[in-house]
Amino acid sequence: MAAELIDGKKVAAGIREEVKNEVAAYRAAGIAPRLAVILAGDDPASVVYARSKEKACNNVGIDFELFAMPSAIAEEEILALIQKLNDDSRVHGIMIELPLPKHIKKQRVLEAVRPDKDVDGVHPVNRGYILSGTDGLFPATPQSVIEIMLRSGIEIQGKHAVLVGRGETVGKPLVFMLLNKNATITICHTKTKDLGYHTRQADILVAAVGRAKMITADMVKPGAIVVDAGINAVEGGGICGDVDFAAVQEVAGAISPVPGGVGSLTTVLIQKNLLKAVRMQTGK
Ligand code: NAP
Repeated sequence: MAAELIDGKKVAAGIREEVKNEVAAYRAAGIAPRLAVILAGDDPASVVYARSKEKACNNVGIDFELFAMPSAIAEEEILALIQKLNDDSRVHGIMIELPLPKHIKKQRVLEAVRPDKDVDGVHPVNRGYILSGTDGLFPATPQSVIEIMLRSGIEIQGKHAVLVGRGETVGKPLVFMLLNKNATITICHTKTKDLGYHTRQADILVAAVGRAKMITADMVKPGAIVVDAGINAVEGGGICGDVDFAAVQEVAGAISPVPGGVGSLTTVLIQKNLLKAVRMQTGK
């Protein structure tokens, strides 16, 4: 029997409604939630991402400001801008589009953002909060993995979650976010021996690798929940996940597609983070 489809677009639409309502309530109270995005250089993908964030913010009533800088910009100038935005009480969230030009020290720039304005959840303070189980601003993609399950009625507590991938963006933060939800965790990576043995133990199997269709049907326990965070370009256009969707959906109990799964939630979860940042900064 084919697996139940975990519908990211539907989950995202529900969260979007919540965001719209919260933004309207803040505006009615005289607070205009505002996101600042810093784009240094002309990386075409970054320009597209920044513009799509702007459109998404316009759709829910969030004020958006793009600070586009030439690729030859000095690191000190970016740091000075971040300091200005940190000190500006009208700005609630700051995002730095990556990659930055090669001469700029990424870590220095990311760490300059005030932790309570770090809506991308990349500051070491927020990373520390994930470890300690304290509330903070957490990265959108691992949050998407959690939210897509919880909001589809899938319980995480007590389940054996197997992660394939321990990357800084998705896998590593997710380990502790799933642990905080009381899952039992196994983490797999390139040095894992007999990957299929581990993935077949999973009640919840999460793929965050970046290798097209590497999770095949024989690697999945019948009835398992399969959540695919991978994004891989397909020759001739489009994207696919790390899971061989067509084959795995015949074995799994539930499965999230790519596109239309985890990736559908990321932008709206950044907006949720922005609203959390507003609460942290205003106490309202
Ligand atoms: P990353 O930093 O490149 O990490 C990839 C991980 O996969 C590493 O831990 C690597 O192991 C592991 N891996 C690679 N090949 C493997 C193999 N054959 N067997 C087992 N493990 C293997 O990637 P990331 O930034 O975390 O991103 C992971 C995926 O999520 C990518 O497809 C990316 O495009 C996608 N992503 C999606 C979103 C979204 O919005 N949906 C956002 C961000 C990223 P080692 O540690 O041993 O090298």
